[in-house]
Amino acid sequence: MQNSGISNLNSEEDSDKYESLIAKAKIMLVDDEPINTDVLQTYLEGEGYNNFVTTSESVQAIEIMERENPDVILLDLMMPDVSGFDILQMMRSKKNLTHIPVVILTSSDDAETKLSALQLGAMDFLAKPVDASELALRLRNTLASKAYQHHLINFDQLTGLPKRETFMEAVDATAIALKSNNEKAVALHIYIENLKNINSTMGRENGNAIIKTFARRLEASVSMAGSIQSAFNVDTQISIARTGGDKFSVFLGPIQNPQQAEMLARKIVSDTSHAIHLNNRSMFTTAKVGLAIFPDDGNTVQTLFSNAETAMSHVRDHGGSENFTFYSASMDEESARILAIETGLQTAIDKNELRVTYQPKVDINSGKIIGAEALVRWINVDLGFVGPDQFISIAERTGQIIPIGEWVLKQACVQAAAWREKYGFDFRIAVNMSIRQIHDSDMALTAKEALVESGLPANCLTLELTENMVMENAESNIEILRMLKALGLKLSIDDFGTGYSSLSYLQRFPLDELKIDKSFIEEIKVEDHRAPIVRAMVSLAHDLEMTVVAEGVETEIQLQHMRSLNCELYQGYLRSKPVVADAFEELLDIEYLNNKAA
Ligand code: C2E
Ligand code: MG
Ligand code: MG
Repeated sequence: MQNSGISNLNSEEDSDKYESLIAKAKIMLVDDEPINTDVLQTYLEGEGYNNFVTTSESVQAIEIMERENPDVILLDLMMPDVSGFDILQMMRSKKNLTHIPVVILTSSDDAETKLSALQLGAMDFLAKPVDASELALRLRNTLASKAYQHHLINFDQLTGLPKRETFMEAVDATAIALKSNNEKAVALHIYIENLKNINSTMGRENGNAIIKTFARRLEASVSMAGSIQSAFNVDTQISIARTGGDKFSVFLGPIQNPQQAEMLARKIVSDTSHAIHLNNRSMFTTAKVGLAIFPDDGNTVQTLFSNAETAMSHVRDHGGSENFTFYSASMDEESARILAIETGLQTAIDKNELRVTYQPKVDINSGKIIGAEALVRWINVDLGFVGPDQFISIAERTGQIIPIGEWVLKQACVQAAAWREKYGFDFRIAVNMSIRQIHDSDMALTAKEALVESGLPANCLTLELTENMVMENAESNIEILRMLKALGLKLSIDDFGTGYSSLSYLQRFPLDELKIDKSFIEEIKVEDHRAPIVRAMVSLAHDLEMTVVAEGVETEIQLQHMRSLNCELYQGYLRSKPVVADAFEELLDIEYLNNKAA
C-alpha cells in the first residue's frame, strides 16, 4: 500500500510537493516514559524533522490530538491507566482523528497483540528499543502514504487539478485577504461544450483525453494571463480547479477593473477552442465562460461561483457571438423562471395543463386542407401561457419531452382518426418529435401504440424531425428512422435550411417530406422575387421524391411564389394560426360539410 502510493507519484513536481509535506510534518509522540520520547525526538531531529508534540500522560493524549491535529502519531502500547489500545479505540470513534496514521511502538513480539492493534487501525509497528534508521524509514513511508491519500482526496486524478472543496477553501482564504485590502477579483466558471457528445460517440477514453488537453490549455492560458497581470501587481493570486466532469473554475485577483476580467475570458476562450487531434480525428471543443466579480457579485465564494455558473448557463443557452458573459442580477429571474418551468413541466400532464393546437396543412393548388400539424401549448397557473419555444428545449434537457411527446402524439392520433371518420377523407396529422424521444425511448413502440389505440392508418401519420437532430449521430439515427418507416408512417424534415446539412447527404435517410423553414419564405416580399436557393431546394427535394411544404406563409405573394416553384403544400398565418380542436373543426366544417351539401 505504501509502496504503491509512492510509485504513483508521477511527476517531479508531485514528489517535490510530497518532500516538503514530509519535512513539515507534525509528529506526536505518546509514551509514559519521558526518556523514550526524548530519545525518539533526538533521532528524528537528526533526520530533519522539527515539529513535535510529546506527552507522557496518556490520559491527555486524545485531547492533545484534537487540539494539535498531528500528521502522524508514534504510540506506545503498554501504558498505565490508558493504554495504546484504548487510545486507538477512542480515535476510531472520533471523526476528526480516524484518519491520522498511527505507528505502534512495542517491545512485545506477540503476533496477537500486533493483530489487534492493526484491527484497531494502526498502520505500522516498530520494535522497542527503537532502531534509528528503521524509525526514519517507517515514518517516512507512513507520511508519504498519508500525503498520497491527501492527494487522492483533494486532487482530480485525471488533470492533477484541485477538486471543488480544496479549491473553495483556498479561494476563501484569498478572498478574505483581498477584501481586507478593499480589492476586487474575478471568478470564472468554465464549461466544455460538446463533451457529453464526444463521450457518447467516441467513448470515455477519448473524452478523458480531451479533458486533459483542455485542462492543460486552460492552465497555460490562465498562468500566462496571471504573469501579465503580475507585471502590474506583484501579488496576483491564481487558483484553478476541476469542479465537475466538464466544468472548471478559476479565481484570479486582485484585478483593477472588469476589462481585465474580460480580457482573461477572451484569452481562455481563444486558447482552449482549437481542434484536438485524437486517433486521426479532429475534435473541436468550445469553452463557455461565466464571470462574476468579487465582491460585487458575491460576498462569499459560494455565491460568487454560483453566480458565475448562472452566467455560464446564460451563454450556453442563449448562444450569441461571444462565448462568455458577466453575471447580472436579471439572470437570477431568468434562472428562477427556467427552474419554475422545469418543476411545472413535471406535473403538466397530470394537471391537464397541456393542449394540442392544430395548424392546417393546405394543398397549394386546390387550397384544400389535407391535414394539420399538431403543436403543443402549455398554460400553468403560476407561469401563465408558456410557448413551446420556451419550454421544449428545457423539456428536452430534463427528459420531460419523452412523456410530453408521447402524450401529444397519442392525442393527435385520436383527434385525426375522429376527423378522418367525420369528414370522410384520409386526414393527415403531423407531429413534432425530439431527438431525446428517438434516443432515450422506444419511439417505434410508442408510434405503434398510438396508431393501434387510435385506429389511424399509419400512412396518415407524419413525424417531423429537425435537420440538426437527424445529422447528429447520423448512423444510429438511420437505423431508428428505418424502423419507424417500417411501420408505414411518413417522415418529414422540419425547418430545412437552418442547419448545416446538404440535401445530397439527406438522401441517405428515408424521408418523405421537406419543410422549407419560414425564414426563407419571409424573404419573399415582391412578386418578381428571385429566390435561387429556395428554387434549388424544391427541385432537389423533388429529385429525391420528397413532397415540399412551405412553412410560415403569411402573404398572397409568398403563396403565389411557392406555387410557381411547384411546392405542393403550405402552412401559415395566411390560412390560419394553430387553433384548438373545436376551432379547427369549424374550418373543416366550412370546407368539407358545405362541399358535401353542395
Ligand atoms: P415548428 O415545428 O417548425 O412549428 C412551426 C412554428 O411556426 C409554430 O410555432 C407555428 O405556430 C409557427 N408558424 C406557423 N405559421 C406561421 C406563420 O405564418 N408565421 C410565423 N411567424 N409563424 C408561423 P410554435 O407553435 O410556437 O412552435 C415552435 C416550435 O416548437 C415548433 O416549430 C416545434 O419545433 C416545437 N414544438 C411545438 N410543439 C411540439 C411538440 O409537441 N413536440 C416537440 N418536440 N416540439 C414541438
Ligand atoms: Mg414542425
Ligand atoms: Mg418548422
